[in-house]
Amino acid sequence: MRLLTLVVIFASFYMAFCEKARFDNYRVYSMIVENEEQLRILQELENHRDGIEFLESPNSIGDFTELIVPPHKLADINDLFEKYEIKSLAKSNNLQKLIDEEQPQFSSRATFSWEKYYDLDDIYKWLDEMLEEYPNELTNYNYGTSYENRPLRAIKFSRKSGNPLIFIESTIHAREWVTAATATYILNELVTSDDPEIKELADNYDWVIIPVFNVDGYSYTHSKNRLWRKSRSSNGLYPFCVGTDLNRNFDFHHAEAGASRNPCYETYAGTKPFSEKETQALAEFVSNFDNIKMYISFHSYGQMLLFPYGHTKSHAKNFHDMNAIGLKAKEGIKKRYGTNYIVGSIAEAIYLASGSSIDWAYAQRNVSLTYSFEFRDARNGNYGFILPANFIIPNAVEVLDGLKAMTKQAKSLKYF
Ligand SMILES: [Zn+2]
Repeated sequence: MRLLTLVVIFASFYMAFCEKARFDNYRVYSMIVENEEQLRILQELENHRDGIEFLESPNSIGDFTELIVPPHKLADINDLFEKYEIKSLAKSNNLQKLIDEEQPQFSSRATFSWEKYYDLDDIYKWLDEMLEEYPNELTNYNYGTSYENRPLRAIKFSRKSGNPLIFIESTIHAREWVTAATATYILNELVTSDDPEIKELADNYDWVIIPVFNVDGYSYTHSKNRLWRKSRSSNGLYPFCVGTDLNRNFDFHHAEAGASRNPCYETYAGTKPFSEKETQALAEFVSNFDNIKMYISFHSYGQMLLFPYGHTKSHAKNFHDMNAIGLKAKEGIKKRYGTNYIVGSIAEAIYLASGSSIDWAYAQRNVSLTYSFEFRDARNGNYGFILPANFIIPNAVEVLDGLKAMTKQAKSLKYF
């Protein structure tokens, strides 16, 4: 019996191990699309692929694009870069090595900490422990279920009634692991910290935090493919192209720019606005709160603080205030470890992207201040999405510094 159990355990471990995507000797390249010809050639490459995967799709000139190349395509891709004068930055010679080294080799603590990345079950277990320990300040919301029937959960933290509400939606993109770790870190600090500046945030604001919004995608990054971005819904006629980019699925200028109608693309916007269970559930959940003064979406990477609009370079009504608040955050973030953030509208600072959650919250839910953080790594950094776990705490601490500075400036501009 015992031997059989061992065999079963070994077999399931072997299966799970074998089914997981590996990236041995894959290289990661990033580039800015400089002209029409480069855009055409990169888009053609994305259509034909042959083992090459785009982490960031090239949608227009000026776009930051990132692709991973298997060893047998390296010569071809370098020829292509040379021919079209594409100035690429080779970021890693062996993507699998980055993935293998992302988690600490030895974890010293048995309980939940911010020294390693956790999967969804562990995060939900930790939320339950927090709810049990702080029942007066924390409220649990199961606000829906995902395509694969996982619970969608949020936690509200409130110390007194009448506070303005800051809403944090994290991990809409599955592979951005540091976002879930940062969201849980911030919740923990708000609840437990004695630091006067954090207490100020905890006492005078309500917080609703969704630590992992794209629960199916996040689970998939842990079990099958570390680099998965989208949801896990099926796209009918395209059985090999699973998932929708949830951050292109919201109901504001849906699929107009910087989003794809092709289900095989990373930025696939879905068949229509709110075609996905997750975005529908979020929209309904958000409408339960009438005191949201700031809506923040956590992403990685690129070290940016972005605000509306994404569908156009035209400036939003309170562009100058959002920019001023963003610049204060930049200052606050930099003070701690010198980390440099770029501040600007989505369309101007990064790329055109329509149908995002922050554009929707701003334009359709009338939240006057909405932001997307793009956490560490830097664009030209070595790690990209695969940020080693020892950066979780420094990242979270500086983001919290940014939030302190943002709320202070927003208050002085009378948003709270
Ligand atoms: Zn993202």
